[in-house]
Amino acid sequence: MNTRELEKSLVNYIVAHSGHDGKRSYIGLSGIGDCPRAIYLRHVHGEEPPSVAQHLKFKRGYEAEEAIIRYLRGLGLYRAGETIRLYDGLVQGHTDGRIRASSDRIGDSLLEIKSVAVPEHFPEGERVPLRVYWQTTAYMHYLGRRYCHVIYLACSSGEPRLYGVSYRPGLGRQIEDKVNGLVEAVRACQIPACSCGRCGAGGLVGKDGYYE
Ligand SMILES: [Zn+2]
Repeated sequence: MNTRELEKSLVNYIVAHSGHDGKRSYIGLSGIGDCPRAIYLRHVHGEEPPSVAQHLKFKRGYEAEEAIIRYLRGLGLYRAGETIRLYDGLVQGHTDGRIRASSDRIGDSLLEIKSVAVPEHFPEGERVPLRVYWQTTAYMHYLGRRYCHVIYLACSSGEPRLYGVSYRPGLGRQIEDKVNGLVEAVRACQIPACSCGRCGAGGLVGKDGYYE
């Protein structure tokens, strides 16, 4: 095998083992902060298949996540993630794990791990982006948790940075209303109105169609 063939084999292997869940048949709580119309269309039409470059990035991200979990296990603080299943699995969420509570009186905290290319991509200040705020609040709402640690890991430097999100019941209720509305829309085959201003006339919004 020559060097170019080896390169090709290596890329193909990583793509085949990227762990990317391309054919999701449920509404993921990870994207619940997005525009309802975008969520609906993503659910009905599926996501666009990732490019080779995106596959390689997914793989990198999963590995960064696994590394963080190994370190937290080493500290004796890690507990396994949970699956949220609502409406017979039409809506689902998969958490990255829990951080063991220091006493039995307070429950475990939720754990969410994000990887970014370089430390310059860490969220500025103390707050996570709105999309992550909605995602973690949705998980806390359905799991009855009060707090979430969000760990960002920069792949280039290996540097971790942590952010905390406290549960806000008001946003939790807002998310539950949105979930219920989406389920009704899917069951009635009725496309919800766009709230982001970027979905166009029935067109598909990109994966970055954030609700801002
Ligand atoms: Zn929209």
